[in-house]
Amino acid sequence: MSKSKSSIVDTLIIGSGLAGLSAANDLSDAGAKVIIVDKGRGVGGRLAVRRIGEAVFDHGAQFFTARSNRFIDCVAQWVQSGVAAQWYQSYPGQPNGHPRYRGKPNMASIAKHLAKNQIIMQSNRAESLSHDRHYWTVKLESEESIIARSIVITSPVPQTLDLLEQADIHLSSSITERLQKIQYESCIAVMAVLDGTTNLADPGAIALDQGPIAWISDNHKKGVSPIPAITIHASGEFSKAHFNGDRKEVGKELIKLARPLFGNANVLDFQVHGWLYSKPTITDNDASLLVSDGLDMPPMVVAGDAFAGPRFEGAVLSGWCAAKKIRNAVKKTDA
Ligand SMILES: Cc1cc2nc3c(=O)[nH]c(=O)nc-3n(C[C@H](O)[C@H](O)[C@H](O)COP(=O)(O)OP(=O)(O)OC[C@H]3O[C@@H](n4cnc5c(N)ncnc54)[C@H](O)[C@@H]3O)c2cc1C
Repeated sequence: MSKSKSSIVDTLIIGSGLAGLSAANDLSDAGAKVIIVDKGRGVGGRLAVRRIGEAVFDHGAQFFTARSNRFIDCVAQWVQSGVAAQWYQSYPGQPNGHPRYRGKPNMASIAKHLAKNQIIMQSNRAESLSHDRHYWTVKLESEESIIARSIVITSPVPQTLDLLEQADIHLSSSITERLQKIQYESCIAVMAVLDGTTNLADPGAIALDQGPIAWISDNHKKGVSPIPAITIHASGEFSKAHFNGDRKEVGKELIKLARPLFGNANVLDFQVHGWLYSKPTITDNDASLLVSDGLDMPPMVVAGDAFAGPRFEGAVLSGWCAAKKIRNAVKKTDA
């Protein structure tokens, strides 16, 4: 698309993470013309993958569980398509949990699979919104505009609230209060390349309940990386306390704490990433919110993992719910 050109679609979706992609697939399956925009370079949002030389890291979400019927069926299809696999049954030492699945070869593979029939504009932030009675106009970083009959916003909720505030869009006070209550914890992630294998027992990952480290995963044992590469996730408490600190120093500290699990291996290189909005700690009770309800604006739904459960599955369920709410709202408008 050339600069300043406008396209008209049925639904514009902000965010090519799990919620946005899941909403997009349900809407386009029902015949709607959909466009997704995302400020990030690749699809998947928090299903992020990073490379340091030959090393490959899952550095956002590490695994997922499946509890609801439709999602269980969906995961079975991903496994059949080769983009997901069961990783292990539960945390080591806790044998009765739900099976843990992973993306194959990495978590972003699932997002790529979900994105394959969608029109997605990556590296293109939605910068401002406006509306008349029938259409939303969304201006993008690239200076293009998209005109849409309805909109689904799946960014982390504080970012959604900022976008709405900048656009001078006023929601009802009860909806605004609900959105303002939602909170996330941050997570500092360290990705380190090693010169040998770790002594992490199968499945090559460990979750820790106490201390600065919450999770350590060996991406080589997991099948993500061709060479030894570990991901360390700091706990919410540690991440909050050190989020604005010197990232390289914080990374070194976390590596020092994790070192007993490295065996004889040494760190060759490392990078640190800070996830400001990692996992929601306070969520809403609805699986998505039709925030335009009762207001003089075209349909707008807010969705994401802060609604249908604070995890991978919750984000997918929220996307599906958003698609349903958009379809019902559009039907009501057309009637
Ligand atoms: C470190 C970490 C570890 C995790 N571990 C697990 C785990 O092991 N298991 C699990 O189930 N879950 C885990 N999660 C949570 C899981 O990743 C999320 O619940 C899920 O991916 C959220 O999907 P989403 O679509 O709601 O949001 P996101 O994936 O955040 O997608 C939102 C998208 O919106 C885009 N966006 C935001 N603002 C704009 C804008 N203005 N214009 C355009 N695009 C915009 C963003 O770039 C992003 O791609 C983890 C998350 C993190 C960060």
